[in-house]
Amino acid sequence: MTFKLFLDPGHGGSDPGAEGNGLKEKNITLEISKNIHDILVDEYSDVSIKMSRTGDTYPTLNQRTDEANAWGADFFLSIHINSGGGEGYEDYIYIDLSNRSETGQIRDDIHTAVIKVNDLNDRGEKKGDLDVLRDTTMPAVLTENGFIDNANDAAKMKDPSWITEVARGHVNGLEKAFGLKRKSTAGTFLIRVKADSLWYYNKPDWNAKAGVVHKDEVFTVVDTLTVSGSKMYKLKSGNYITANPDYVEKV
Ligand SMILES: [Zn+2]
Repeated sequence: MTFKLFLDPGHGGSDPGAEGNGLKEKNITLEISKNIHDILVDEYSDVSIKMSRTGDTYPTLNQRTDEANAWGADFFLSIHINSGGGEGYEDYIYIDLSNRSETGQIRDDIHTAVIKVNDLNDRGEKKGDLDVLRDTTMPAVLTENGFIDNANDAAKMKDPSWITEVARGHVNGLEKAFGLKRKSTAGTFLIRVKADSLWYYNKPDWNAKAGVVHKDEVFTVVDTLTVSGSKMYKLKSGNYITANPDYVEKV
């Protein structure tokens, strides 16, 4: 059965959300959400995603919840950045819900998965009377991914690989909560290096350079990932390499 995710990048357009350290919340929530979208579409089967916005526009909170309700989403995920003098990550379910409710258990899976990879202080699992949590007819969770007015948190927000890690954390939580299935990797294939020399990486992170491979070397690809907006192959060895056809070709 297809899992229908309504993904809501907070704020947008005329509403910048929180601001600080040269950053605007609306831009970061959109980047994280686009990464969540791409990872799910590229790596998982039977997932259908609607986004409340894909650019710098401002749908009202009512428009967002109405659209999710009319579509019959299975889950509503709202992505935000915090401000106001704290530091770290927290997430919200509707104030009247128990932690043992269906929504509470989904939130627990997301919280655990996100905090594992986001390198932020854990401010805990919270509840609030927030519009998008109250007015949705399906389970809904809102995540606050660091404080834009905190220098440490804001520095992370400026790093594209942090954005991807945060997105991957959300995806890992969704996978656990909803039993999402990764696309079959039965279709492994071989690639040959075209460039004279090329970095490989020991993590799905463009900063995790681990060494160099050379022209005409051949490797087995077991998975394709989107990392900071660009495709990366996972190799049978456990290392990673660019999937850019300018540098590698399928054989
Ligand atoms: Zn916000």
